[in-house]
Formats: sequence, C-alpha cells, structure tokens
Amino acid sequence: MTHAAPSPTLAPGDNPLLRSWDTPHGAPPFAAIGPEHFAPAFDAAFAEHRGEIAAIAGQKSAPTFANTIAALERSGRTLSRVASAFFCLVGAHSNEAILALEREVVPRLTAHWDAIHMNQGLFARIAAIKDAPAGLDAEQARVLERYFVTFRRAGAGLDAAARGRLAEIGERLAGLGTQFSQRVLADEQGWTLPLDDEQDLAGLPEHLRAAARAAAQERGLTSPAVVTLSRSSVEPFLAFSRRRDLREKAFRAWIARGEGGTSDNTAVIAEMVLLRTEKAKLLGYPTWADYRLDDAMAKTPAAARALLTKVWAPARARALADRGAMQEMITAEGGNFALAAWDWRHYAERLRQERCDLKEGEIEPYLQLDRMIAAAFETARRLFGITTTPRSDVPVWHPDVRVWEIRAADGRHLGLFFGDYFARPSKRSGAWMSSLRDQEKLDTEVRPLVFNVMNFSKGADGSPALLSHDDARTLFHEFGHALHALLSDVTYPLISGTGVATDFVELPSQLYEQWLDTPEILKAFAVHHRTGAPMPDALIAKLRAARVFNQGFATVEYVASALVDLDFHALTDAESLDPAAFERAALDRIGMPEEIVMRHRSPHFNHVFGGDHYSAAYYSYMWSEVLDADAFNAFQETGDVFDRATAERLYRHIYSAGGSRTPDDAYTAFRGRLPTADALLQRRGLADVTA
Ligand SMILES: [Zn+2]
Repeated sequence: MTHAAPSPTLAPGDNPLLRSWDTPHGAPPFAAIGPEHFAPAFDAAFAEHRGEIAAIAGQKSAPTFANTIAALERSGRTLSRVASAFFCLVGAHSNEAILALEREVVPRLTAHWDAIHMNQGLFARIAAIKDAPAGLDAEQARVLERYFVTFRRAGAGLDAAARGRLAEIGERLAGLGTQFSQRVLADEQGWTLPLDDEQDLAGLPEHLRAAARAAAQERGLTSPAVVTLSRSSVEPFLAFSRRRDLREKAFRAWIARGEGGTSDNTAVIAEMVLLRTEKAKLLGYPTWADYRLDDAMAKTPAAARALLTKVWAPARARALADRGAMQEMITAEGGNFALAAWDWRHYAERLRQERCDLKEGEIEPYLQLDRMIAAAFETARRLFGITTTPRSDVPVWHPDVRVWEIRAADGRHLGLFFGDYFARPSKRSGAWMSSLRDQEKLDTEVRPLVFNVMNFSKGADGSPALLSHDDARTLFHEFGHALHALLSDVTYPLISGTGVATDFVELPSQLYEQWLDTPEILKAFAVHHRTGAPMPDALIAKLRAARVFNQGFATVEYVASALVDLDFHALTDAESLDPAAFERAALDRIGMPEEIVMRHRSPHFNHVFGGDHYSAAYYSYMWSEVLDADAFNAFQETGDVFDRATAERLYRHIYSAGGSRTPDDAYTAFRGRLPTADALLQRRGLADVTA
C-alpha cells in the first residue's frame, strides 16, 4: 500500500493542526488531522517557540516576573497543542506513520527543551529575579522557584562544554526511550495464544471466553478466541485456565516482552543507564537516583529505599506462607509438581475462593463497565459536587472514545473528560491519564481537556463489558488523576493539575481507588448484568475482606521492581553493564522468591526505560500510598467516607491546588501533619506479620 508523501510546501492555513479549532471547547479536530500534518506543524511550532524565547531572553528591559516568567508561561502554546494531540495518538491510536514520526520528534523535543533550559540569557534573567523577588504572591514565588530549579537541574549553570555534552546525552536518551517502548509494543502486538477448542478454554468463566472471542475478532484472526499480552487479558487467563501448559506458554511470552529476538532491549537499557550516570555526574550528583530524587518528596534514594525495605520483609514472609499453602493444595490434589511462576495466580485464585468463600468469577458479573464509570462519577459528585453530561458532538480519535462535560456544583463548566476504555492493537498496553489541554487562568480562564486510556476487554456479542475488581480499581485510579487535572484551579500553566512531584502525583489517583470498595458505592453500582440485582451485602463483605488476600505476592512483585529500578540508578560506574545479570543479582540480594517475577521486568519496564519520567522513581507508587492510606483514614475517622469538611480540605489543598505548594506543605495543610507508613501496612494486611 502506498501513501502520498507529506507535502513539504503545506501552508499553515491548510494544516488543521495550525488553524484555530472551532470545535466544541476547542478540542482537536481529530477527523481532519492526518499523520502527514504533524511534521510541518511541529516545524512551525518549534520555530514559533524559538522566536518567543529569543525575544524574552534578548529584551533590553531589566528582568521582572512579568516580562520573563509570565512571558515564558505564555510561550510555546502552539507546540503544546500540537504535541498533546500527537502523544495522545502515539499512546492510544498509533500506526506506522505515527510511530516513525515519534522516533524523529521525541529527540527533537528534548533538544528543543534542553536548548531553552540551558539558555544563558534566560537563566541570567531568572536568577536575577530570584535574587530580588519583590512583590510576588505565593503562587508566583512558587512558579519562579520551579523555573530556577528546572534550569539549574538542566545544567544552565554549567560551562559550555558540559552543556554541550548534556544536550547530546538528552537527545540520545530520548531516542533510546522511544526505541524501548516501541519494541515492547511490537512484542505485544506480535503475539497471541490461540484457544481453538473446549480443551484450550478449560477453566475460563464465560466473561473471559467472551473477551477472548472479541480479541480474536478485533484482530481478524482465524482462531475463534485468543489470549493477548495485555494485562487485562493475560492475568485473568493465568488465574482461571486449568491448562498448565498454556499458562506456562502465555506467562513465558508475557515476561519476555522486550527480551530476545528483533525486539531485544538489552543494549538499550545498558546504554541508558550509562548515559544517565554520566548526566548525573555532570550535574554534580554521585548517581542518577540522587539526581532524580533531589527534586522529589523523598529527597534521597536512602529515604525511598528505607520505605521499600520496611515493607519488603513482612510482604516476603506473607508470600512464602501463601506459597506453602498453595503447594499443599497441589499435593493434596495429587499434582506431582512444584508450584511455578505461571501457577501462582491460578492457585492464589483458588486459595482466595476457599479462604474468602468466594466462588469462581463471582465478582465480575456485577462490575459492568458503564456502571463503574457511573460509580466513579458519583463518587466525584458526592465528594466535590461535580456533574457529568455525555457529549456526542466533540471530535475523538477513535469511535470507541466517549466524552463527558464536567460541571461544578454551581453549573460552571470545568472541562471535558474523554474515556477510551477498550484494548485494541493500535494502543499501548497499560492504563494512563493525560490531557489535550491544561487548566490555567493567566490571561483568560482556560479549562482542561483530559483523557483516560484503558485496555479493558470488550464484551462479545452485544453483552456488556465486565471488569475484574483490579480493572475497576484501575478505572477509579485513572479517574482520580483526571480529577486532579479537571478540578485544577491555579493561574500558571507550569503548576497546573498533575504538575507535581512524581512521588506525590499518585496520591489523588490511589486515594480515589478507596471509594470503589465502599458499601455506599458498591451497593448502588455493582449490579448483576443479567438479573439486575445489586451485589448482596454478604458478597460486598467478602470482597472487602479479600482485599488483603495475596497482598504478600502483590507487594513482593511491586517492591522488587522498585528496588531493581533504584539499584540500576544507584550505580556510580555503569560501564559494560549486563542488564539481565544485574537484575538477577539484585533479586538474589533481596531473596526474591523463585515463584514470583517482578511486576515489570527490565526489558519491558516502560515506566523506567520508556522515558525518564519514572526512572529511579517507580517507588513513587508506594510513597504515594503512604500518603493515600493515611488520607483515607482522615475520612474514616469522621465515620463518613464522604465527610463534607474533609472533602472540602481535600479539594482545596490537593485536587485543585496543582503544584502551587511543596508536597509536604500541601499534605500538611490537608491533614495537619505528615503521615507514617502505619496505615499502608494496615491496609495491605502486613502490620502484624513477623518476618
Ligand atoms: Zn497513576
């Protein structure tokens, strides 16, 4: 198949990305945007932003907050518009042309921002304002501080040779990160496990069979049903399939993503760790982890490691005890084998049914996607007073995407929320929130366009999509992030919504998960898809009790990933690194049980190697969990999980506040103090485990 080459002479007027968008609420006109429009739009947007920066840096007037910081905040708007639409498609609906462009654009973007953050004229102006910050309000002072720190951490204060090398490293790292995630995507797209007959389907409840049929249909495969490497497909298969041989096959493919073959990420990881270590040293830090965490709530790798280590010992002890119980189950059934990694989820599911008196597939028929979306909305209505109205007139990037308008209690428009829920081959695995536009009110009030992307399985043959309890939690989690952006009420774009430290950003999302399991929400929204009956009280009680079940395993697979991430980035010398051997040695040091594999092995650890964002920062989820477990206690202590006064403080200091304060200050304003890890250990059922 051939396509016309993108026209190099495309005039701005002909490019839908560069025109003003007269769509509802200025959403990108996706139907009019083709892959060929992005390259010329990026060219124009880079040039425009460079011009704005040169004007700010080169002006004659003495530096002030208004002519420098506020001017910077007003610059680059075309670039942010084009890039937001582009990265939405990269993650949620890509094709060969988009992915090819991503390989080109990501290093250019890095080089572009590095050039700004190392601009000497600009840095001199920012430093001068910082030396005499007269007449600034609290938010302006915070924005100024963030600019200064960002420039300093980019190397603006270093000599020309160091800055040159940093720019080279930045560009190379960006290219490697893109290569890494594209290889993982290729492995995920390229593999399916056919389930051809009743024997292959043994043990799978009806909703999983329907999902497997839908996955085969969607990919146009000849097999009637398939398992894919998306987490929503492979994890339930591992839990329910009675075919040990097929479980092993699926599991081995799943944990080998990005390893071996044409998609091997080994060399990419080695080079990334080497370059990150060099970059950290140029910036005056002994390791990449020291550099990254200096600007996080944890502040030092030692603090992050101390939390993980504290949780590791009881979690491991609990996991080993569960392993023993599962092995007994196998032996009692006459199974002549030792529990393996591909058996864990299967026997854990059966142990859960036995211990918590839950029957196979008993929960899922009550968790219909549409009802869970409504439950997430109702939670926000009760906490923050917002209302949601479906909109069918807003352009979307795929027919499956749904849009809602979000309004405040007084009817004020707050933003648009896009929900893209179903897995498809053009989508990356996992679940995430991002935005097409952020909130700000520097000149006029700009309201955000926020989206959630999930990888749920469709219901086949017209039946509703049913979620696992994990899927429903993911839905609440990502909607929590979405609210952080939708409720944002700050002046400056830099600190809007989720523009906070990486180890603080999971607080609004993980906290939000807690409302899913409340009887108030489950009774109203967990309704059986065939009978329409609400989830019985006894089942709600069992579901809540089952939450601590298998937490040893869940904590071990997470903490192992977080520690390996920190270990890679604690290297002071990363010459001739062998990532596979390094990972093995790191796991041996902590006594990783053989039957548990890291939640994300290095070759497909997109958080850490698909870009810099969560590098040396995967611990952030647990750091945030210390906060959110303690924060939910604030509601429980009042006896009402929707307590008005607590919800009001939560809105004021967390969900609407963006990065207008340091994380410590924001949390203390909400809770009156900083948290300890006690609530987290309690929640995971690990408080009383002796290791
Ligand atoms: Zn999250």
